[in-house]
Formats: sequence, structure tokens, C-alpha cells
Amino acid sequence: MAKQFFCPICRKPVAWLEENPYRPFCSRRCKLIDLGEWASGNRYIPGERVSPEKEDDSHEFDHTFWKS
Ligand SMILES: [Zn+2]
Repeated sequence: MAKQFFCPICRKPVAWLEENPYRPFCSRRCKLIDLGEWASGNRYIPGERVSPEKEDDSHEFDHTFWKS
């Protein structure tokens, strides 16, 4: 059974898995929040096209993460 920790951003209990590249956060979203990029909207510069692939990637990671 994997060790558990609590995501410092959303306080969700998360299994400590080697394949989680976002440790100590539960997901890329929380990591970005910690970096201040998400909240400040720096990723979404007006006029810059946002790739939908990036969102899909984040979603897919969460899915596989919780499944395992
Ligand atoms: Zn989190």
C-alpha cells in the first residue's frame, strides 16, 4: 500500500506514487496554483492560443492517478 500525504493546496489525501511528477501536489493544477501561475492567469495571455491538449493531459493524469 502506497504512502499517503495531503496535498498542500487542496488538502486532498493523495497516494505517494513514484509516477506522480507533481509531488508533493496531487496534480499539475495544484502545482500551478502553488507557483501562482494558475491564480494570476499568467498562462492565458490575451491573444495567445491555449492548447486544449494541455487540459486533456491534466485530466487524463488525474484519472489514471486515482484509478491506481
Ligand atoms: Zn491538490
